[in-house]
Amino acid sequence: MEIIKNPQELQKRALELRAQGKKVALVPTMGYFHRGHASLMDAARKLADVVIVSLFVNPTQFGPGEDLDNYPHDLERDAALAQEHGVDILFTPTRDSMYYDDHCTWVEVPELGVNLCGKSRPVHFRGVATVVTKLFMVAQPQVAVFGQKDWQQLAILKRMVRDLNIPVEIHAHEIVREESGLALSSRNTYLTTEEKNVAPLLCKGLKMLREMVEEGEESAARLKDELEAFYAANIPGSRVDYIEIVDPDNITILERVDGPALCAVAVYLGKARLIDNLLIKV
Ligand code: AMP
Repeated sequence: MEIIKNPQELQKRALELRAQGKKVALVPTMGYFHRGHASLMDAARKLADVVIVSLFVNPTQFGPGEDLDNYPHDLERDAALAQEHGVDILFTPTRDSMYYDDHCTWVEVPELGVNLCGKSRPVHFRGVATVVTKLFMVAQPQVAVFGQKDWQQLAILKRMVRDLNIPVEIHAHEIVREESGLALSSRNTYLTTEEKNVAPLLCKGLKMLREMVEEGEESAARLKDELEAFYAANIPGSRVDYIEIVDPDNITILERVDGPALCAVAVYLGKARLIDNLLIKV
């Protein structure tokens, strides 16, 4: 496995690979790999001749007071895991090599960014859409793999490539969970042992909602109230950022669950802000 730090160097390599007729897959990440990242790498391996994984903690998607400077990292361990999973190129640019001091060009998909995480993290998706566009230009992939863990991000990126005619196929990968149901996340490292014991209830509550829908409940308000009460009673010390039921493609808020519906939650638990989601009606 090659480690490339410089965006210009990766772009040159990627253009050469494309000229040789190779199919390139990109897996964008912020590192501190877990099984979720690994399964994205495995999926990419099956889709392409060359797998590029980017590891970049993108400053423009963090707001003031967020965990940019404390984001967990372990490059040595990450490089070993990427190599084990057949990654060909690990791209680890510096912040300075990705952004000029006077960077001022942004990609925005505002309509899909107003609800859920976009509400509490106002600059987040602008940063994500911009860095992913830059990564696409640098790594020149035909296919890119993203996790459904960040469902809103996936919806935004699908819309972005559609609207801007970007020739990259977006491949969605299901959420990888612990046996307990807890969605794997680099930020789970912020949890204490006690918090880790109750965190799986986040997912349990979502499953409970899906059962209520299967039993005929259609009122989004009643479902959300039920989930809020469940978290309050069962996850001591947690604070709900949002509990929403949305259209899975447009991320618009639903009042009735009578068609495809996604329940998405963000909950503060100790130092972590955990997100999870479940399709409660297909
Ligand atoms: P991150 O490094 O957290 O920015 O995530 C990089 C990619 O991995 C994103 O496409 C995430 O959606 C995906 N990802 C993170 N956690 C999981 C998980 N538990 N299951 C599946 N994909 C995940």
